[in-house]
Amino acid sequence: GADMPTVISLLNSYAGLSAVAMGFVLSNSLLIVAGALDGASGLILSIIMCKAMNRSFTNVLFGAFGQVQQKATGEVRSVKSETAEGAALIMEEASTVVIIPGYGMAVAQAQHRVRELYDLLTKRGVDVKFGIHPVAGRMPGHMNVLLAETEIPYEKLVEMDDINPEMPQADVVLVIGANDVVNPAARHDKGSPIFGMPIIDADRAKTCFAIKRTMNPGFAGIENELYYADHTYMLFGDAKSVIGELVKQLAASGAAH
Ligand code: NDP
Repeated sequence: GADMPTVISLLNSYAGLSAVAMGFVLSNSLLIVAGALDGASGLILSIIMCKAMNRSFTNVLFGAFGQVQQKATGEVRSVKSETAEGAALIMEEASTVVIIPGYGMAVAQAQHRVRELYDLLTKRGVDVKFGIHPVAGRMPGHMNVLLAETEIPYEKLVEMDDINPEMPQADVVLVIGANDVVNPAARHDKGSPIFGMPIIDADRAKTCFAIKRTMNPGFAGIENELYYADHTYMLFGDAKSVIGELVKQLAASGAAH
């Protein structure tokens, strides 16, 4: 079901092609031109989406990417969790914070709380940017649409290729309900179903906070090694309430200053 946006875009291009055929039958050049544009743009969008996921058309249409099971290794790994209070303290001391939103932000409808967090941190002089992955969420431009709704300045929404060189300088990265798009396995694990998919290099920042409810995997159905890294701290809970808690902590410490 989650691959539906790509499939819809492909079907949309077929609709364009059928309009072209109808244009020939009716000898209507407007229908031919409009249908060709619709057909071509739908196909181009589908190709771009498949490229961003590093998957073939066949895999998107007939594969079972979302049902891949993690191989049992028998290895028990532990994660570190942090409180909103602790995370707020570290974030307000940072010079640069990069926020990476994903599908979980959309599920939680947390974008307005994210705006409040952005405002509070910016007021403290922290440079806050958003790292936007092209297939974060479940449709192209999903994160841009949600963040534009909150009127976060457009120049703060930085595309993956532009934010990645800045990641090693980021003091803190805050991953909000994103999983596959920040999974370092895509860079090095040839056996991973997401191997080769471009990711945002959240693991290269100095400290990483990750908000999600459980240790369940994301769309690709695989574990994310980022969560087990030494510099990663989990903030478990629904994105909207965890960010609400961060906002409360920052507002309280701001009032105390
Ligand atoms: P993922 O699906 O990889 O991960 C989403 C994470 O959000 C999960 O780990 C989940 O963990 C967490 N989450 C869900 N609900 C909440 C909540 N209420 N609060 C906090 N966290 C929550 O998402 P990404 O955005 O990282 O990646 C997108 C994936 O979708 C990619 O694999 C991409 O290929 C695929 N895709 C994207 C399309 C697009 O056009 N954008 C189209 C088709 C597929 P938990 O349940 O533990 O909370």
